[in-house]
Amino acid sequence: MTQPVDDLITGLRSRLGSRQVLDSPEVLAVRSLDMSPLPLLQQVLGREAVPPLCVVRPRSTDEVSAALAYLVGRGVPVIPYGGGSGVQGGSAPVPGSVIVDTWAMDRILGLDEEDLTVTVQAGVPLATLEAWLGERGYTCGHYPQSIDLAQVGGLVATRSSGQFSTRYGSIEDLVAGLEAVLADGTVVRVASQPRRAVGPDLRQLWIGSEGAFGIVTEVTLKVVPRPPDRWLQAYAVGSMRVGLDLVRRVMREGWKPAVVRLHDATEAQRSFHGSVAEGECILLLLSEGPVGYAQAEGTAVDTMARAAGLRPLGPAPVEAWLEHRNDVAEYEAYIRRGVIIDTIEVAAPWTGIADIYEQAIGRLVDEVPEMVYASGHSSHSYPQGTNLYFVLAAQPRRDADDAARVYEAIWSRVMETTLALGGTISHHHGVGRFRARWVPRDLGTSYELLRRVKTALDPLGLMNPGSLLPVDPAPGETDH
Ligand SMILES: Cc1cc2nc3c(=O)[nH]c(=O)nc-3n(C[C@H](O)[C@H](O)[C@H](O)COP(=O)(O)OP(=O)(O)OC[C@H]3O[C@@H](n4cnc5c(N)ncnc54)[C@H](O)[C@@H]3O)c2cc1C
Repeated sequence: MTQPVDDLITGLRSRLGSRQVLDSPEVLAVRSLDMSPLPLLQQVLGREAVPPLCVVRPRSTDEVSAALAYLVGRGVPVIPYGGGSGVQGGSAPVPGSVIVDTWAMDRILGLDEEDLTVTVQAGVPLATLEAWLGERGYTCGHYPQSIDLAQVGGLVATRSSGQFSTRYGSIEDLVAGLEAVLADGTVVRVASQPRRAVGPDLRQLWIGSEGAFGIVTEVTLKVVPRPPDRWLQAYAVGSMRVGLDLVRRVMREGWKPAVVRLHDATEAQRSFHGSVAEGECILLLLSEGPVGYAQAEGTAVDTMARAAGLRPLGPAPVEAWLEHRNDVAEYEAYIRRGVIIDTIEVAAPWTGIADIYEQAIGRLVDEVPEMVYASGHSSHSYPQGTNLYFVLAAQPRRDADDAARVYEAIWSRVMETTLALGGTISHHHGVGRFRARWVPRDLGTSYELLRRVKTALDPLGLMNPGSLLPVDPAPGETDH
């Protein structure tokens, strides 16, 4: 260990206690990566990731405050780290940085059954919270595929969306209040209220902030009583365009089935083989709510689906999806074999979505010779539009540089196609470091607002540098 690093660790230990500052090679190795596929693959191919100088593990808001004031005061870049399930490189260290993780901030602080809120420290894993709420008859209704990996603070920081978002909303709809620590150690709280007309909604500043403004330390989430009733049905669909048009009309009429998933023909064959014919897509619908609600909604959307020519398949494909929806072992196996396996989620208004789906898949298949497969589904819908979630596999040479080249070829085609056709570059995985260069184009003139907020809250640019905002946008990139 070099002397300055030694001093830094000594200074941190004197403020937080020796057990809250970790520097063993094993811990540094684990904290040098999140779940982004490219660095994981490059590690398999022999390229080690950059480790942090050390890992700080505060137990309280006061300790987060002390750590940030000390590190930022010494000019050290800080990388907030939650569950480490992010897939955009957002919690991976930059050279010379210190990770501040929230693994010791894991207390559930209280459930208010009258006001329907639960308050937690940021490091509570969502799965732990949901199990705890379930025992008491409640749920947040937030079920990302990474429920077993992600923490509440990380979900807030990335603007996460869960599989049942059409009914319950995404994390921005579920946060009732929060507390965060700014780069200089100042603690700020937005107390929970049913609604507040006192200026802009300051909760939203933190939702999607990706550690670039400070660290979220406490969150109050809305909860609902666990729904007693469910209705499930799957349908074979002739094409993505037919399916997207039906989903658009369901949303337009105001129905909100909790799950609305339209998988293309490639995914239908891969995951629902035997339920649909070759070339058919599959639509999964699930409605839940108080007694009477789910059956009423189910009957209405079923009538619309049959009128649109969809073939009912019964509830079995939805039950199969429910059982296997969080299995990701297959992805890890692919990476170990040297395959790029990745997902890219974008969103767009209804007017552009089918074109984005067709053109992005078409370009990947035609222009990237290493593609093994490219498929997509829509899984989060709104009256104004929907998301697309591309699932992609490619086989580069067994070489870290070639993996990066193929990865770039894939990402640039999906990002460029989405932007050209009026979509947004991320629906719910956030920006991290990998997507930061497209942020100025995505936000247009409001990028300047984001940049000024960043400068005001983090004047030295030490909070998660290069994540969310590009470090140095090329001249002219904001002129849109
Ligand atoms: C298999 C798999 C499935 C996934 N499915 C979904 C899904 O269905 N829906 C979805 O939305 N996402 C999904 N994701 C992405 C990921 O789980 C989410 O982005 C999640 O919100 C990250 O939470 P985390 O606690 O793991 O955060 P991390 O990965 O640790 O961090 C993510 C970002 O947030 C910042 N951050 C973390 N904690 C804090 C904090 N307390 N304060 C400030 N900044 C912080 C980090 O610096 C980083 O920039 C999936 C990922 C995987 C690997």
